[in-house]
Order: sequence, then C-alpha cells, then structure tokens
Amino acid sequence: MTTFRSFINGSFVDSASGKTAPNINPANTTDVIGTIELASREEARRAVESAYDAFRGWKATPAPARGKFIGRAARLMEDRKEELSAAITREEGKTIGEARGEVQRAINVVEFCAGESRRMNGETIPSELPANFAYTIKEPHGVVACITPWNFPIAIPAWKLAPALVAGNTVVFKPATLTPLTATLLTEIFNEAGLPAGVLNLVLGSGSEAGDEIVSHPAVKAISFTGSTETGLKLYTQVAPRGVKVQAEMGGKNPVVVLEDCDMALAVESTAQGAFGSTGQRCTATSRAVVINSIADEFVEKIVTRAKSFRLGAGDDSKTDIGPSVDEGQLNTVLKYIDVGREDGAELLCGGKKAEGDGLDNGFFVEPTVFDRVTRDMRIAREEIFGPVLAVMRARDFDEAMLIANDSEYGLSSSVFTNDANSMYRFIDEIESGMTHVNSPTTGGEAHIPFGGVKNTGLGAREQGSTSLDFYTELKVVYVDYTGRKREGNLY
Ligand code: NAD
Repeated sequence: MTTFRSFINGSFVDSASGKTAPNINPANTTDVIGTIELASREEARRAVESAYDAFRGWKATPAPARGKFIGRAARLMEDRKEELSAAITREEGKTIGEARGEVQRAINVVEFCAGESRRMNGETIPSELPANFAYTIKEPHGVVACITPWNFPIAIPAWKLAPALVAGNTVVFKPATLTPLTATLLTEIFNEAGLPAGVLNLVLGSGSEAGDEIVSHPAVKAISFTGSTETGLKLYTQVAPRGVKVQAEMGGKNPVVVLEDCDMALAVESTAQGAFGSTGQRCTATSRAVVINSIADEFVEKIVTRAKSFRLGAGDDSKTDIGPSVDEGQLNTVLKYIDVGREDGAELLCGGKKAEGDGLDNGFFVEPTVFDRVTRDMRIAREEIFGPVLAVMRARDFDEAMLIANDSEYGLSSSVFTNDANSMYRFIDEIESGMTHVNSPTTGGEAHIPFGGVKNTGLGAREQGSTSLDFYTELKVVYVDYTGRKREGNLY
C-alpha cells in the first residue's frame, strides 16, 4: 500500500506527527489506495521556510527560463495522462472520461502559462517631463500558498501552481486530504521537470492544522484558495490584519434560465449534463433550473426521464455515466439536503436516495434527483449541495426568472436557453455571475480564458487566461530622469 508524504525542500519526508488518514476509493470502499502521513504544524512551517529560502534564486531566474520548467512539466503530464486520469477516477470518483478531460484542461493551462513566461511585459509610459522615462515591471510576491479542494484535483492545482511559478513566486501547495495521490503525482512531475529544491513544496495535512499553520506564517505573502465559501471567507478574515493578498474561488448555486423560445431538447440535455455530470460536484454545476411556467411541465417531464436514464457506477467502467459522491460525509450532506427539500415542501420527482444494488453497495452513490416547485425561500434553492440534485423553479416571465436566478449569495456561472437575441443580451446584462453561457451548460471553461465568480463566490483577480498572472505579480513603477539636473519646479 502506498504512503503519501509531504514534499519539502526537494524531498518527500516522513511526518513526525504520528497522524494518518486513509485514501479510499469512493466507488468501492474496500479499495484502500493508501495512507496519508498528515503533516504536523512544524512540518508545515518547514515547507514555508524552504519556499522562503528558495525565493531569491527563483526570482532571479529570468521569466522565460522559469517558463522552460513549466513547459517541461506540461510535456511530462502529457506523457503520464492515462496514469493521472486513472488516479483521479480512483480517488475522486469521477468517470474516466471526465478525468481525462480534467487532465487535458490542466495540460492546456500549464502550456499556456509556459508561454506567458515570455510575455511578462510591463508598460512604457511617456512622462510629462522632458528627458524622463517611466515604465512598469511585474514582480513576484514571495511565498504563495495554493490551497485546493478535492473536486478538480489536478486542474485547480495546475491553474494555481503554473502561473505562481512562472511569475517567480515559490509555492507551498496544500491540496485537500481526499486526493493526495493526484497531488503527489503532480508534485513529482514538477520536480522531474527540474524545479530547484524549495521552489515547490507539497504539504499533505488537515486544513485546521497544517493549512492553518501555512496561512498564519508571516513569510506567506499571498494565498490562492479554492474551496467552500465558509473556509475562504474565514481565511480572508484571518490574514487581513497582515495585509496578505487573497484570491478565493468559492461556492456556487448556478442557475440555468429556460425561456419559452428555447430549443427544448438542447435545454434539457444541457441542464442534465450540468446538474448530474461529475455527480454534481463541480463548482460550476447546475443546481437551479428556472423555467417559464408555460413550458415548465414539458421541461420537467423530459428532465426526469433523462435523470432516470443515467447509469451509475465506478468511474473506471466505460459504461458509467455518473460516479459516486467523494466520501461518506459528502454523501450524507446530499441525503440531508434531499430530506430538507422534502420537509420544506418541494416536490420530489425522481431519485432522492442512496443508490444500491448492481455493484453500488460499497460506494457512495446517490440517485440523480429532481425537485419541482422549489421556491426562493427553500434551503435547497439557496445553499450549495454539491451533489446530483436539481431544483426546478417556475417563473411567470423573463423578469421573474431573472429575480429568481439572481436571488443567491453566489455568482459563479449561469446559462440561458433562448433563440431570441434580445432576451439573450438582456440576460447577459442582468445576470449576476462571473461567467455565463448561452445555449450551453453552466459547466466548462477553457484554459486561456479567465475563470471566476462574483458575490460570495469570488474574491480577487480572475484565474487563468489573460488575467492568470495578475494575482501572482506586483507592479513596480520606475521613473528614470536622464536630464542630469536637479528637477525644477514642483511635480505635484
Ligand atoms: P473546503 O473549503 O472544505 O477545503 C478547501 C481546502 O481548504 C482544503 O485543502 C482544506 O484542507 C483547506 N482548509 C480547510 N480549512 C482550512 C484552514 N483553516 N486553513 C487553511 N486551509 C484550510 O472545500 P472542499 O470541500 O475541499 O471543496 C468543495 C468546495 O469547493 C465547494 O464549495 C465548491 O463549490 C468549491 N469549489 C469552488 C470552485 C470555484 O472555482 N469557485 C472550484 C472548485 C471547487
């Protein structure tokens, strides 16, 4: 059985904490993948210190040379694509097709960032004084903590680590404890790409101990976090007195709005993919379908038929459409919300329980679930469930649909189904979300396009694409006076 250990200053190290956690396949709990040696506070501190010590040398390495390491990592990921995909399926549970898609996204992001290393340009700005020159330089912060969730165990770390490193920061990477295998493989790949010791450190440990120690360390100058809103806002508050930069991508409650003139088959299929694909465990998953009354009965009938057609199973079986919830805790959360939905008076149309039989008994499977006549005050309309549960909310007209769609503390993704150009543009103007889609699911995104949310979903600069380096760099503004004379007069 594999032992997963932290990677500090260029080596995998044993933990002195004596604390461990098992890594279990959520589709089959008899498959124990390995044991994690959970890092102690002291080990987390050492990881930050090793990143601190490596910073000067890494910052002094020219950006295109840093990019070479990142480009090499992309090629190694490509070579190990199948191994990475199988690891994700085994420890996170998503289907092998979804895992391959995630790995490809990660490769694309890493490639993109390698290219960005040759474009770390500042600006030259004409001065209002004669014989003066002003320009800007992009500089790294120092040690950056990258704290990641379990649901995209390679893509999210890749889209934080690659830009942080290209920008010249050194990194302490703290993944979720549920997905240590993928985190270990990614760390191995960056190490094999030749990163100097200390530039990238991996801490496998709990959020409340190792994570807390990392974010509390005075050498950590910036934190890029993805996870729940509760944890993200807590971290933000915790480090604010130190003036630490925080970028946080957090929870979602993403709506689709289905208008009368939509292509119904497309709306149903896209909503089903968004709600039930990856077991509803995407931050961009569709959790609310806001449907105009006059077409709601037809939509509901079709989405229920589609929900019932999905085949549940282990992600490594090519016939499986939907894998398990990631662990028992997440399974229980989903089942609890299904009870809450019933108690609050929503109409349960299909699913609603743990799936059993047919090889599912040893896994954390939940039947794809559809609730109808969900109202804005119900908890299943307001709180993130993170499982295969769709709330259908009926609306009188476009205006009421927008009121419902925007009545959320979250604002990550959204989509509209319509063939009317005016409605489409009105929707784009009025919807409160960081990303929106037209006639396609709420999920998905491309490596070279910015990603992130508004309201209680997102804090700080957008990740990925043209904005990916913004969070990881500071601008230094330089004024050069080449008159060789004392400045006359008073420039402000
Ligand atoms: P989580 O908030 O429980 O944990 C996220 C990470 O934070 C983990 O590595 C955890 O160990 C760490 N952590 C927890 N407490 C900490 C502390 N006190 N100090 C430092 N680190 C700490 O989230 P999760 O359950 O792993 O992931 C699911 C959540 O992630 C969902 O809410 C989902 O919407 C969100 N998510 C958001 C996006 C996005 O881009 N908006 C993407 C993926 C997932």
